[in-house]
This record gives sequence, structure tokens and C-alpha cells, in this order.
Amino acid sequence: KHYTKEDIMELVQDEDVEFIRLQFTDMFGQMKNVAITVSQLGKALDNRCMFDGSSIEGFARIEEADMILYPDLDTLAIFPWRPQQGKVARLICDVKRPGGEPFEGDPRYVLKRAVREAAELGYTFEVGPECEFFLFHTDENGLPTTITHEKAGYFDLGPLDLGENARRDMVLTLEDMGFIVESSHHEIAPAQHEIDFQYDEALAAADNIMTFKLAVKTIAKRHGLHATFMPKPKFGVNGSGMHINMSLAKDGKNIFSDPSDKNGLSREAYWFIGGIMKHMKGMTAITNPLVNSYKRLVPGYEAPVYIAWSATNRSPLIRIPSSRGEHTRIELRCPDPSANPYLALAVCLRAGLDGIVNHIDPPESVDCNIFDLTEEERKSRGIEAVPASLREAVSELEKDELIREVLGVHMADKYIRAKKEEWEKYTAQVTEWEISQYLNQY
Ligand code: GLN
Ligand code: MG
Ligand code: MG
Ligand code: MG
Repeated sequence: KHYTKEDIMELVQDEDVEFIRLQFTDMFGQMKNVAITVSQLGKALDNRCMFDGSSIEGFARIEEADMILYPDLDTLAIFPWRPQQGKVARLICDVKRPGGEPFEGDPRYVLKRAVREAAELGYTFEVGPECEFFLFHTDENGLPTTITHEKAGYFDLGPLDLGENARRDMVLTLEDMGFIVESSHHEIAPAQHEIDFQYDEALAAADNIMTFKLAVKTIAKRHGLHATFMPKPKFGVNGSGMHINMSLAKDGKNIFSDPSDKNGLSREAYWFIGGIMKHMKGMTAITNPLVNSYKRLVPGYEAPVYIAWSATNRSPLIRIPSSRGEHTRIELRCPDPSANPYLALAVCLRAGLDGIVNHIDPPESVDCNIFDLTEEERKSRGIEAVPASLREAVSELEKDELIREVLGVHMADKYIRAKKEEWEKYTAQVTEWEISQYLNQY
């Protein structure tokens, strides 16, 4: 939908909106917001809403802390879960400096830059995410736990599951907000769910992922549950992924499709795969940003470990879903839902474009179960693994000039520094596992 300032003022009147939340996202994918009343809306729409960015992680130094929010008018949405008199609406904003220059620490700006790069080549990047999450119980203080009494598994049907009701409510809420929910189902682990909504252009898709997480968490809370997008909250069961389905369109046509090819894929599609595979290690710190992300990327839980692609098998990093024609797409299976969606989509796009611009052919597809291959077989076929830890991923990011360029100097530096710190804090810990393994034995 496209709105003008006048449309927004009118809509807010007609809908009896009292509060507006001006939202933006920090470097680590956390949504931030400033609430204003309708009386301040005119000022906000004129891009005169200033805030102090110095205490927001990854934002700015003290001496350059003042930032201005530029609401993206097309993102107006009303929160269905707030009172229906004196409603609450939101606008997603770009963050700029007082002079009006874009702020390099704004992840939405990073994605916009990547999208512009694609547009210069005539491409529109279309993205359909598959977000998985867990619904856990809260304790008597309302704090999240990893406890669930649920036993349902893949595609199982209620009333086994308390979560079913919550999920149904989530879907209805999302639809109220204009999402087209294509499917929702119980995932493999107890209390794990997935809701898939329709693909969109990259910027809208990233905005949608942010809105999706907020809606899911909010509705879960209403059901006395805690929704978590933590990648691997429980040992011994699947973690939560955020598979990303991607395609490029030119003049409104999907250019990944070529019916004459044996896999139905165009040269651009192969090159895009080639680019992603080339930069995968350098991108992993963005697509899988937490220490915990790497607990998911291990064999045995349907998450990828090896950098390979296939049109027939699900075990690799990149899969080609069976739909063809206008729906031809490639599915990247390593990202997890803790990733900052703006940054994740930006690096995927630029890596894929690098493949197209430089004609990077992907290696041969691996159409067997990679986990059945021996280490020697993998070596002889040149199949490498994704980084095994956040530390390794950060080192790979430091080595990948293109990915650092996508982030920009400011963002890349701050991100790398913060992630190294996160890793250092983690490795200094003495874990339960170590105690149980070593305390008695040594
Ligand atoms: N949960 C799995 C993952 O970590 C995916 C399972 C599935 O969707 N088939 O990616
Ligand atoms: Mg799925
Ligand atoms: Mg799934
Ligand atoms: Mg999938």
C-alpha cells in the first residue's frame, strides 16, 4: 500500500488512533520504538522527530548522538492486540543524521543500499522467509522457561497442544495486519511451530519479519506462553531455522526460471547460488549471529552443516524447492530467526549478485544425503562446512571484503567488535556440561 501524509492523518482520525509507535531496528535485530501521541504525528511525518541514539547498541558515539526518525509512510499498521478505542499504530522509520544524511548504523539503510545495487542491474529481490519458533511456559513470575508439556510433532493436529490455540490466534492477528499467511504448522520438536507468510520485495519482507516476531511474541504472552526465536533453546531436539526463499525478478518476471534446463534453473539462478556459496562463510556471522546459533548447525537436526546445494535433497545448505515457473526460487537453509533480517537479506542479495556479475558457477550439486558421506568423500568432492562457532564465523567475516562492504565500515567494525566480545564472554564460562563431564573424573 502507498500512503501520503494526508492519507495517514485521515486514517488515524477515522480509525481513532491515539498512539503511534515510531519503530526502528538496532544492529543486533532488536526492535526499538518511540511512542508519540497523535498530537505529535504532524511533526513526525515532517521528519522532525529527534532522539538520542547514544544508548542504543551499535548506534553512535556520544558526540554524534542525535538522530532523526524518517517514518516510511507505507509501513503504517494498527496493532490488533491493543484496545480498539484509542488504537495504537506503528510506522517503521529510517534513521538519519540531523542533516538528513542516512545513518550508517541503521540496518534498514544497509538493506536499502543492497536493494538499490540490485535495481541498478534491473533486479528486484523477492524473499519468502520460513520462521520457526518455540512456545514455552512461563514461571510464576512470568519469566520464560524452556518447559513445555506438549508432545505434538511435525504436522500434528490439536487438541494435543496448547500452542495450537496460540498459533491460530497469531495467524488471525497477522492476517488482520495485512499478512497473507500461506501456511502454519507444528514443527518437529515438541512446542515448536512454523508460520509462513507470502514473499515480498526484500525491504518489505525484512519489515514483515520484524512485525511477525513482535506479533508472535505478543500473542504468545496473551496465552500465558513465551515465544522464542532463540536458535537452539533445547539440547536433543531440532533448533529453529529461518529458511530464506529467494528469487530475482526483472520487468516483473522471475529470472531464475528456465524450463529448458535440466533443473529448470536459469544461468542467473546458478550464478546466484555460486555467489552465495562463495560468500557463505563470510556471511554466517550475519545469518547466524549468536553463540547459540552454532548449536543448531550440527548433524542430526535437519539444519545444514555443509556448504552444498541440491535440487533433489534437503540436507544441503541450499535447496531448490520443487515449484517452478514464476515460483522458481532457491532456499537458503542456514539462517536462523535471531538474525537481523535487514542485514541477513542484504548480505544474501549482494553475495548472489556477486555471483551473477562475475559469473560464478556453483560446484556440482550434491544429491545424496551429505551426512552419509565420510569425511574423505566430502574432502574429495570439495565440500566444506559452514563455520562451527561464532568465533570462526567472525574471522571469516573479517576476511570477506564484499560482505564487510555490504555492511559498511561503521557497521562492520561495530558488529565484529561486539561479536568478539560476545564470544569471549561465552568461552570464559564454565558450563554444566563441563562439570558433569570432568568434575568427577579428574
Ligand atoms: N528446524 C529445522 C532447522 O533447524 C528445519 C526443519 C524443517 O523445516 N524441515 O532448520
Ligand atoms: Mg518450512
Ligand atoms: Mg520448518
Ligand atoms: Mg524450508
